[in-house]
Amino acid sequence: MTYQQFLSGVPAQRRYWARSHVGWARMAHAEPNAGHRAVAELERAGALHGLVTQNVDGLHQAAGSRAVVDLHGRIDGVVCVGCGQRTSRATLQARLAALNPGFVAAAGDAVEAAPDGDAELAAVDGFELAWCTGCGGVLKPDVVFFGESVPRDRVAEAYAMVDAAGVLLVAGSSLTVMSGLRFVRHAHRHGIPVVIVNRGPTRGDDLADVRVDGGCSEVLTTIARACA
Ligand SMILES: [Zn+2]
Repeated sequence: MTYQQFLSGVPAQRRYWARSHVGWARMAHAEPNAGHRAVAELERAGALHGLVTQNVDGLHQAAGSRAVVDLHGRIDGVVCVGCGQRTSRATLQARLAALNPGFVAAAGDAVEAAPDGDAELAAVDGFELAWCTGCGGVLKPDVVFFGESVPRDRVAEAYAMVDAAGVLLVAGSSLTVMSGLRFVRHAHRHGIPVVIVNRGPTRGDDLADVRVDGGCSEVLTTIARACA
């Protein structure tokens, strides 16, 4: 769903939150992997001064990373489109459960199986939305949708992190979206060496000073071991 679709009105928002409510209730709790742990290890060792991530799952913080810019936001957060008030996804989940008792058990399978977009399920039509407790506005997951721009202060924070870096290390991204690639271009323009670790080609390859074609969990774990 794009940002414009989400903002198009209650039917789209109902579809989004009904699916999200079911998915969240059933989501197995994800755990950080070796790559997340290696990045946190590098920060503890003083080798890494900051991290700009395009992931929205919060697993870097769960692994122990501290200086993190969540470029595309966090799926465990909720923001009001009207007044900008932020709340936790867990709080919203409880509110949605209270507004829609038994929804997950009764309609969960049908909602999850529905193609995203045009299916107007009877079950979804009955889903009660929760609104901002501050202003009554529309609640949106605190993630950057397709068609939505990254908040300006967050972009500035990420640029500042790159400017303060001796080296820009790109790990596990093919840099297909401009929101990540612009930092590589910026570093290259300002003489900050760029190291890219990724399995397969990336859109930043011709700007890289060093290019490692490999899995970032393995490569970062090896570097973290050397820095420890
Ligand atoms: Zn609000």
